[in-house]
Amino acid sequence: MKLRDIFKTRSQGISFEVFPPKSEDGKDALLNTVKDLSGFDPLYVSVSYGAGGTTQERTLMTLRWLRQETSLSLMSHLTCVGSSRASMDSLLREFQSLGVENILALRGDPPKSIPDFDPLKGEFKYARDLVEFVRDYKAFSIAVAAYPEGHRESPSIEKDLEYTKQKIDAGADIAITQMFFDNRYYYEFRERASRAGISVPILPGIMPIVDCRKMVTFAEACSTTIPQEILDRMEPVLDLPEEMRKLGVEFAIRQCQDLIRNGVRYIHFYSMNRAETMRDILSVVRYN
Ligand code: FAD
Repeated sequence: MKLRDIFKTRSQGISFEVFPPKSEDGKDALLNTVKDLSGFDPLYVSVSYGAGGTTQERTLMTLRWLRQETSLSLMSHLTCVGSSRASMDSLLREFQSLGVENILALRGDPPKSIPDFDPLKGEFKYARDLVEFVRDYKAFSIAVAAYPEGHRESPSIEKDLEYTKQKIDAGADIAITQMFFDNRYYYEFRERASRAGISVPILPGIMPIVDCRKMVTFAEACSTTIPQEILDRMEPVLDLPEEMRKLGVEFAIRQCQDLIRNGVRYIHFYSMNRAETMRDILSVVRYN
């Protein structure tokens, strides 16, 4: 089902993102995770996408398995930086033939292997260019990324919001946020977005912290703030993986419950392919 129809017919719900396994060996584990989580009746399941040839194949392979083995609505993430229109065209046709009806249109990050890579010289400069390209196929509903704390390359959160609005106005049906751990960033963003005339659903992206040290590094790279209270409570359990995971679950539950109390009807989870963690969260988080 396309996002625009899902969000017309469902007044609340969750979605989750999975990443493609490294090889065919991960197929069963991935399918078990998705089937397990499908009990929570997700709005859609999305599959992340790495830039570069080999990882594209893995995204396609994962979508193929999910299409064959489930009837869930699927979304593929798709990055455009460094890609040609011809290569995007063949990928989109492949998504179409697999029955994938939704695309998360992303610019992506310049390849680290090419230090002087200039995204502005490519055929696609920004996610907005990809939204415009995908839109013309009519076969897809489109999502875009949004950044409550601002994208790390942006000169200001005001400019970032202006660009976010441009890509939504180009043809996106929903936006999904970068992870955040302090809901105030999301509420402020929602408020600013509304004032700017953005009316599509903005799904908060929730990332459970299962490994705090890794998350600190990742959050720094994404310019995401981890509140001091979380860091302080994680400190004593940094070398106790299961205790740390349980605390991460507790924080994610608290975050979701606060979002729901504040009127949020849809939540997107970065599942990291972790069925147990997602189950622990979703079995507690309830609407109403
Ligand atoms: P854009 O919206 O194009 O923005 C990129 C930067 O350019 C921003 O700083 C923006 O403010 C600026 N900008 C935009 N338009 C203009 C303009 N007209 N003039 C000047 N500046 C402008 N990455 C992956 O590789 N694979 C994934 O699967 C993936 N999934 C993601 C899922 C979500 C929900 C999110 C939030 C991010 C994901 N990413 C993924 C990361 C994403 O690719 C990076 O954050 C990337 O750096 C920006 O992509 P974008 O689509 O937000 O870019």
